[in-house]
Amino acid sequence: MSVVEDVAITLITSDRRGVLTVDSLTQELDPTIGQKPSDHCAVVGYIGSEPAYPIVLASLKTLQHRGQESAGIATFHDSSINVRKGMGLVSEVFNEKSRGLDSSLGGTVGIGHTRYSTAGSKSMENAGPFLVSNSMGHIALSHNGEITNADRLREDLMKQGLTFLTSTDTEVLLLELSREMSIHGISSGVRIAMDRLKGAYSITMMINDRLFALRDSLGFRPLIIGRFEDNYIVVSESCALDVLGAEKIRDVNPGELVEITPNGIITLITGSSKKLAHCMFEYVYFARPDSIIDGIEVFHSRIMLGRILAEEHPADADVVVPVPDSGRAQALGFSNESGIPYSEGLIKNRYSERTFIMPTQQSRTSAVKMKLNVIKSEIKGKKVVLVDDSIVRGNTMNHIISILRKAGAKEVHVRIGSPEIVAPCFFGVDMKTRDQFVANGKTTDEICNVLGADSLGYLSIDGLVRSIGMKREDLCVGCLTGEYPIPIAQDKHPRQKELESFTG
Ligand code: SF4
Repeated sequence: MSVVEDVAITLITSDRRGVLTVDSLTQELDPTIGQKPSDHCAVVGYIGSEPAYPIVLASLKTLQHRGQESAGIATFHDSSINVRKGMGLVSEVFNEKSRGLDSSLGGTVGIGHTRYSTAGSKSMENAGPFLVSNSMGHIALSHNGEITNADRLREDLMKQGLTFLTSTDTEVLLLELSREMSIHGISSGVRIAMDRLKGAYSITMMINDRLFALRDSLGFRPLIIGRFEDNYIVVSESCALDVLGAEKIRDVNPGELVEITPNGIITLITGSSKKLAHCMFEYVYFARPDSIIDGIEVFHSRIMLGRILAEEHPADADVVVPVPDSGRAQALGFSNESGIPYSEGLIKNRYSERTFIMPTQQSRTSAVKMKLNVIKSEIKGKKVVLVDDSIVRGNTMNHIISILRKAGAKEVHVRIGSPEIVAPCFFGVDMKTRDQFVANGKTTDEICNVLGADSLGYLSIDGLVRSIGMKREDLCVGCLTGEYPIPIAQDKHPRQKELESFTG
């Protein structure tokens, strides 16, 4: 097996975009999607009898909602790992013009990645998959999640003489795994590294022509395995299996390391954690509604979020209107439970460009109008229940209420299908400072005033847990309570209270 000098690495950066250094607020302030917490990454792995590249590519396109900053694919071919990655959407990085280069991604085993940065800057150097070579050969890795002790591990590894090419936690994760596997072998090495690595990681990894999948012991982020004929695929969400016509086999268990071969799945490390921390936001907003995560259908959870929201916060109203697209399933659930008719009273322009930071109130309202328009006959003279899945800053909701009032709404009652977000996330979601949250330090009445609504109701944490259908202790609700499943350095989290049940 060749060593590092023989690794063929093809880096294709989008000509149009080049290296991006856009501040994260750019997306946060998008009037229709930017107020949402942004999700992390998607990972894919494939092994079988067919060319890996088109299968990994199709999967990444299906999982595009999990990250839009960069995309990359690595395959093993002719004794080396080839990777192509670039900034932008999957369809931009792997576009018609680059098709002539597709032959460099030959082989029948591969991994893929789409990224939304949660640690490290937004630049080409931080795009996945990541590569390293050691005495075992070549290793490529795709990561969804965030390593909470990456800074300390980076210092330790640098003291041992390792050098870093990027600012990402994923490179720390890869070098930690690589180092331990080269000394102790794959199973023991990964086990030792897992003891050191804190945080969230769902991983697909190639070691030469072998494919592995690994999930952290609390199971923050999803990871699922499927099969069609003699081909195996591991993906962040089951919707990608459906698109390929693959049957779902099972989720990778929290704490489990599997090797996936053309002949089946071999468990190398059995997850044995008694504590789990599945991210509740996967069910509320991040995952596609047609996905099934850890045995629970996301769409069903969202309908239940809306139903229980209607139980907890009924409204005297004429029509239930979702904020498109994020509030749609919850609004349907609210309508079903309350008997108030559902209407698509707000229409989204799917083709308008992303809106950047607008300096004035007038320009921000215009930006919302470019993205959203009102069907006046559905709104005028009516008492409206406006439903969304969550509120972060509140700016967008404020603008939407104002355009509903201008369209003649008699009353606007806001109902939110999750509890108030009051604390940062450190496990792979772009919510880093508590100053971002409109709910922080305010009563519900005060938030209602800020938004300009006639009434406001948030789902309770109990209601959220009932809707998802998991045990409370199996869910992470850190951003709702400030109580995290993993101890976090106090200087990063002044309000953090460690949950007795999670620590130790
Ligand atoms: S803190 Fe919130 S967003 Fe982050 S993993 Fe936990 S539930 Fe998900």
